[in-house]
Amino acid sequence: MTTSTRPSALDQRLFRASVVSSTRLTPNMQRVTVRGEELRAFPWRGYDHWFRLFFRCAHQDSFREPDIAADTWWKPYLAMPDEVRPYCANYTVADFRADAGELDIDVVVHRGADGETEGTVAIWACAVEPGEEMALLDQGLMYDAPADASSVLLVADESGLPAVAGILRSLPADMSVRVVQEVPAEADRRDLPGPAGTRIDWVCRTDPHEIPGTAALAALCADGTVDATGYAFVVGEQKLATEARRHLHRSGMPKDRITFSGFWKSARR
Ligand SMILES: Cc1cc2nc3c(=O)[nH]c(=O)nc-3n(C[C@H](O)[C@H](O)[C@H](O)COP(=O)(O)OP(=O)(O)OC[C@H]3O[C@@H](n4cnc5c(N)ncnc54)[C@H](O)[C@@H]3O)c2cc1C
Repeated sequence: MTTSTRPSALDQRLFRASVVSSTRLTPNMQRVTVRGEELRAFPWRGYDHWFRLFFRCAHQDSFREPDIAADTWWKPYLAMPDEVRPYCANYTVADFRADAGELDIDVVVHRGADGETEGTVAIWACAVEPGEEMALLDQGLMYDAPADASSVLLVADESGLPAVAGILRSLPADMSVRVVQEVPAEADRRDLPGPAGTRIDWVCRTDPHEIPGTAALAALCADGTVDATGYAFVVGEQKLATEARRHLHRSGMPKDRITFSGFWKSARR
C-alpha cells in the first residue's frame, strides 16, 4: 500500500517533452503520447499518479515554460502575460515507459450542446501534431489507502478512468476490489487488468445530455453493501465525488478511509 502521496517541494521540476502521437483510443477518449529525454527520470509510482500539463495555447506562437522554482509557482505563472502563459490542466499518467522516456495521457473528448468538442485540453489533444512541445509537473498520488484496508472501492466517471486503470494495475494481486466505472458509451469500455476477481460494474450513459457521474452515483447508491473497513477512491464530476463520499460515510465508512476529488465541475448545474 502507498504511504506518502505527494512529491516534496524540493522534488519539483518540470519534465519537458514533445508530442509523438495523438490517436482515438475509444469514441470519447483521445490518447496523446509524449516523449522526452527528461521523462526517463520521471518518478512514476503507478496508481493514480497525476501531473500538471502545460502546453501552448492556440493564440501563442511558441511554448514558454512556466517558472516553477518556488513552492508558490502558480503566482509567477498567473502573472505571465496572456500572450505567453501556457495552458495548465490536471491529468493522470495513463501509462509510462521509462526506457523510451514515453508517457501516455488519456483525454476525455467531451462535447457541447450541439456536439462540438469543448474544453481547451480536449480540443488541443484532438488537433495536436507530433513535435509539439509541452511540459509536465509531477504531483504524486492521491490514492492513499490505509495499510489495513480489507477491500478497495473505486468509483469514477470517464475523467477518472485513467486513474482507475492505473490503480487496478498497481494493487496487490490478492486485494478484493469493486469498481463502479461510468463511461459515455458501451464502446468506451476497455480491458482493465487488475487483481483476480475484481468486480467491475460498467455504467454506460443512455442519455447523452445527462451530467457525467449521475449514473455512477445512482449505481453506487442502489447497491447497499459498503465495507466499513475498506477504502474508497471516488473521482469525477464534483457532485459524484461529494455525494458518493456522503453516501459511503452515511453507510458506515469512516471519512479517513475515503479519498474523493472533484476532477471537474459541470457548468450545467
Ligand atoms: C488529479 C486530476 C486528474 C485528472 N486526470 C484526468 C485524465 O486523466 N483524463 C481526463 O480527461 N481528465 C482528467 N482530469 C479532469 C480534467 O482536468 C478536467 O476535465 C479539466 O476541466 C479539463 O480541462 P479543459 O481545459 O479541457 O476544460 P475546462 O476549460 O476546464 O472546461 C470547459 C468546459 O468543459 C466541461 N468539462 C470539463 N471536463 C469535462 C469532462 N470530463 N466531461 C464533460 N465536460 C467537461 C466544463 O464543465 C466546462 O463547461 C483530472 C483532474 C484532476 C484534478
